[in-house]
Amino acid sequence: MKLATRVTKIKPSPTLAVTMRARALQAQGKDIIGFGAGEPDFDTPENIKQAAIKAIQEGFTKYTPVGGIDELKDAIITKLKRDNGLTYKRSQIVASCGAKHTLYNIAQALFEKGDEVIIPSPYWVSYPDIVLLAGAKPVIVNTTASTGFKLTPEKLEKAIRKKTRAVVINSPSNPTGATYSLKELEGLAEVILSKGILAISDDIYERILYDGLVFHNMANVSEAMKDRCIVVNGVSKAYAMTGWRIGYAAGPENIISAVTEMQSQSTSNATSISQKASVEALAGDQKTVSVMAAEFEKRRNYIVGQLNEIKGMSCMKPPGAFYVFPRVSRLYGTGYGGRKIAHSVDLSEFLLEEAGVAVVPGSAFGNDHHIRLSYATSMKNIEEGVRRIKAVVKKLA
Ligand code: PMP
Ligand code: GLU
Repeated sequence: MKLATRVTKIKPSPTLAVTMRARALQAQGKDIIGFGAGEPDFDTPENIKQAAIKAIQEGFTKYTPVGGIDELKDAIITKLKRDNGLTYKRSQIVASCGAKHTLYNIAQALFEKGDEVIIPSPYWVSYPDIVLLAGAKPVIVNTTASTGFKLTPEKLEKAIRKKTRAVVINSPSNPTGATYSLKELEGLAEVILSKGILAISDDIYERILYDGLVFHNMANVSEAMKDRCIVVNGVSKAYAMTGWRIGYAAGPENIISAVTEMQSQSTSNATSISQKASVEALAGDQKTVSVMAAEFEKRRNYIVGQLNEIKGMSCMKPPGAFYVFPRVSRLYGTGYGGRKIAHSVDLSEFLLEEAGVAVVPGSAFGNDHHIRLSYATSMKNIEEGVRRIKAVVKKLA
């Protein structure tokens, strides 16, 4: 059966694919350590679950306004003021079915054939495909370890052409953890404002920051920049709520209203029960967020130390998010038992089959020299996983 061209241009999310493959192998009884999923291993905090249970018991199980209930919009407004010092009105907020859905809808509302969207690489796997699904062209701008995998104003300026509509900034970044300082954002904002493009700021890892680092968002730079910025966030990562599917955007009224209209003809509202749970997550007690972040920090310190002991791997200490992105290309050209390692996919296959360890190839993020490991898994799994990686990498010659 013939499919629409737009579908043939995209691929399934590689991060979700690795996770599902690892789960399928586990279901067959295979002993697999999963470093694939970018998903907190913690349970959703109790106060949030209770809010959802209460919503069900009170019969809050019907359609809600398309862009979210006022109570949720107010909780988002409270959060943006409390954590980011940003002021928004209800008409500037929309809640969707996860931040991925928010980003998809923003792209659909803003971009079309002929438009270009700048995506710094390494990038989260879904950005290019979301832009492609809108009929626009993702323009990948490579960043390197020498700038901490961050986009510089010079690189941004060079990539902007007449057709450029926006740049995506993801800080802390998936997969590198790279986090922009206010000064660095100011440099980028100068280019963005002078060229009249938009910034899409994906802040989903904002609360998972280490070494006492303070988060800044592009909209913090100036009122002028705030007017050209769409802030995207969600509850998945900070509150261990990946399955609840709530994301949101804050930004210029006309963009928010276009996204809301699109939702009214596609998904309608995000789940009513999840909306109530997210009110508690965003406006309720925030203690659990720092408890989880402190645990991630311990794991980061351990895994970075261990990976750097492996010959052929070198790993930057990420300032945020819950991923490590070690450089592994020194292992390319080696092999074991008839199996050759030529790129990040080969190495990932080798680790899965020989060590029972699931990782995501760097090529999925636009940089084939690396692989990504998510340390959003127990310390016990991390210890066993790195022990296995060490043992099998030693066999490569
Ligand atoms: N942005 C980034 C950078 C992510 O890693 C994710 C993780 N899936 C998302 C957005 C989307 O998260 P969700 O749809 O679960 O809110
Ligand atoms: N963002 C997570 C990751 O990168 C979840 C998977 C996905 O949504 O693609 O692993």
